[in-house]
Amino acid sequence: MNSNSDKIPLVNLNLQHQQIQAQLQQVIQTVLQTGDFILGAKLKEFETIFANICGVEYGIGVASGTDAIALGLQACNIGSGDEVILPANTFVATLIGVLRAGAKPVLVDCEPETALIDLAAAARVITPNTKAIIPVHLYGQMVSPTKLLDFAHTYKLLIFEDAAQAHLATREGYHAGSVGIAAAFSFYPSKNLGALGDGGMVVTKDADVAQKMLRLRNYGASSKYCHTEPGTNSRLDTLQAAVLLEKLPYLSQWNSHRYQIAQQYNLELSSLGLSGITPMQNHSESGHVYHLYVVRIAGNSSIQRSYLQEQMTAAGIQTGIHYPIPCHLQPAFLNLGYQAGDFPHAEQLSEQILSLPMYPGLTHSQVKKVVTAMMQIVSQQKQKFLHI
Ligand SMILES: *Cc1c(COP(=O)(O)O)cnc(C)c1O
Repeated sequence: MNSNSDKIPLVNLNLQHQQIQAQLQQVIQTVLQTGDFILGAKLKEFETIFANICGVEYGIGVASGTDAIALGLQACNIGSGDEVILPANTFVATLIGVLRAGAKPVLVDCEPETALIDLAAAARVITPNTKAIIPVHLYGQMVSPTKLLDFAHTYKLLIFEDAAQAHLATREGYHAGSVGIAAAFSFYPSKNLGALGDGGMVVTKDADVAQKMLRLRNYGASSKYCHTEPGTNSRLDTLQAAVLLEKLPYLSQWNSHRYQIAQQYNLELSSLGLSGITPMQNHSESGHVYHLYVVRIAGNSSIQRSYLQEQMTAAGIQTGIHYPIPCHLQPAFLNLGYQAGDFPHAEQLSEQILSLPMYPGLTHSQVKKVVTAMMQIVSQQKQKFLHI
């Protein structure tokens, strides 16, 4: 039997917080004393530094990643009458952001090997109203920037990146957040860079987009009590910005630990390939920041995903599914008119993917334990088959 301490969770945030606990307490204390809770100095500082790390000039902190998408699109003048292309297999917040901006979401399928948006499929849904594409840098891997830029150039579209899972990711020499006109990040606690609560940011190289974002997040005010457009209240708290600023220097170290863990998984899982269990492909080398480590259990595998997941839970190993229902089949969005069969790769992936434990601080022996448990479950299952 496993004792509680032997359990391996999908994510463990305690480790990173223990590492810098004294610093965090210090900055929280400082903000408390300073009292500049809203749009304070630490926010400005964090916005500038984070945007610069992404390779762009402007960062505008908001209340969540979802708001970063909704307000970011609006700031890029994307809204009513515009069609926006996005992948069906993203977290629903991408879709919600498009709807909240007032634009029409147009879903497309993904590539089965990477789970990233299929640009060939995107090319087939272009209409005269298509205004933008949202590449989602899913699981921490960027959609190919060169292909995206080509695509956007060919069809005269804006690129708005959903980089909520891709802090500091790179590919082909580009940073996540620097490919399009603007990009959205989330600082939800379990993201690669997470706050102690909700938070998000729009980063952009465009001064007009930045100016409009500053207004939109602050009641549409161009100056105090002068409201030039109907904005909202969506600001990143000074307190959260101060915490994020403390965490930021550790981010690349945390990301490279995630990368090492992924390398170990890849290596140790290679023998399971024969059973139809394979990792999602990485085409961005060390630029992949592995927000999640996802394997795929092929339809012809001797093992069922639900069985594998159940048995791993029993062995004290938590796993996840990102995501079990693609956007087009979510009850809330059936009115968009899509149906089962529309996006076969996204649908198949939703039935086959499994996320394994992944977080900075996960040890070599814990990774080994996860893989060993999988191997045991698979081989026991095979024996069962043989005995029938
Ligand atoms: C987390 C996430 C979001 C939403 O961010 P919140 O901060 O939770 O609102 C959007 N898109 C993707 C791909 C995400 O993973």
